[in-house]
Amino acid sequence: MKDETKYIHAGYEPGNGDPRQLPIVQSTTYTYDSSDAIAAVFDEPTHALIYSRFANPTVMAVENKVAALEGGVAAMATSSGQAATVMSILNLCSAGDSFVSSSEVYGGTVNLFSVTLKKLGIEVIYVDPDAPEEELAAAFKDNTKAMFGETIANPSMAVLDIEKFARVAHAAGVPLIVDSTFATPVLCKPIEFGADIVIHSTSKYMDGHAVQVGGMIVDAGKFDYTNGKFPDFTEPDESYHGVVYTKDYAVAPNIIKTRMQLQRDFGAYPSAQSAFVLNLSLESLDVRMKRHCENAQKVAEFLEGHDAVNEVRYPGLESFTYHELAKKYLRGGYSGVVCIDVGDRDKGTRFMDALKLVARQVHVADARSCVLHPASTTHRQLTDEELLAAGITPGLVRISVGLENVDDIIEDIAQALEQL
Ligand SMILES: *Cc1c(COP(=O)(O)O)cnc(C)c1O
Repeated sequence: MKDETKYIHAGYEPGNGDPRQLPIVQSTTYTYDSSDAIAAVFDEPTHALIYSRFANPTVMAVENKVAALEGGVAAMATSSGQAATVMSILNLCSAGDSFVSSSEVYGGTVNLFSVTLKKLGIEVIYVDPDAPEEELAAAFKDNTKAMFGETIANPSMAVLDIEKFARVAHAAGVPLIVDSTFATPVLCKPIEFGADIVIHSTSKYMDGHAVQVGGMIVDAGKFDYTNGKFPDFTEPDESYHGVVYTKDYAVAPNIIKTRMQLQRDFGAYPSAQSAFVLNLSLESLDVRMKRHCENAQKVAEFLEGHDAVNEVRYPGLESFTYHELAKKYLRGGYSGVVCIDVGDRDKGTRFMDALKLVARQVHVADARSCVLHPASTTHRQLTDEELLAAGITPGLVRISVGLENVDDIIEDIAQALEQL
């Protein structure tokens, strides 16, 4: 199947007389004929369903759809993007380990890495993603177990050189995790460029209607965990009757281990109802994403020529530092988020308040255009100096371009800029 077809059909193949649309299996548990049958399920937990804290047929259909779209071998859904990020790290790192991360990542990810994982004894080593390969390689230590980056960084819009990161990670004997939330498989499939694990906040374009929070982890099935660095993959797991993930589940050891250990113990699994809604949204992702890109390109071009705007950050603009990388890694569009700098904190607030159609929301990637001025909202506790250290200028405004008629969006932005 071509991708456009997979968005509609992958993951659920109804048989003769089955429901046309993905059935919602709203059940916490599954029933068996005998205690022997249940014992067999515990011996071979991937062969049948046990409990909806970590496996459910509706959710699994959507997992299989996203795995197919990313070109992976298996996927696991989570109840948020944050849950996907934390599980992707905890599946590789334990207390006393470290991992290398691009410094250009989502704010929630920075907090998770710098504060919460630190409390668990896992150290994050930040690197400048644009640094040369030797400098990136020098950041690794003996206890480093993973490398992490974002395809298109939220909110800086920096585009990751995925092949470079993959080369450095693989030379150090660790897998590369890529958060591809802003790209979606419509624009980029990081596995094709060497990523080993792809994660998503499905709350963004995959959902696309501001309906529900969710996440996904996809396993490329290519990384060799038998290189001596990952004993949890190669030695018997006593909590599961001594299974050895690289031996017993050689096709997708990463995702099976994440599901059987972390999802079992933490239980951040979506409900069947949530998976059903996500599947419905995924059916139109290819079509929606193309319109988001088309509209954002026009908005970015309008803003680039405007007197009240100091800087426009959008991968589709030739003037943007990351345009060459964007052309290499993104296909057929440059996503729907445009960041601008309108000068200072006061102008940022006034611009945001003057908008009529474009909504003020702590969200991106919705069908409705929305806007956020970090300095007066999510980052309001920071001084101008602290903001700059976090890579955010006081006048930075993040515009998430929706699916409305682009002339209406531009008209609203234009009248708000006039008031500055
Ligand atoms: C929103 C976001 C997350 C976190 O996802 P939630 O679904 O909000 O938990 C992670 N990464 C990126 C790039 C995001 O935009």
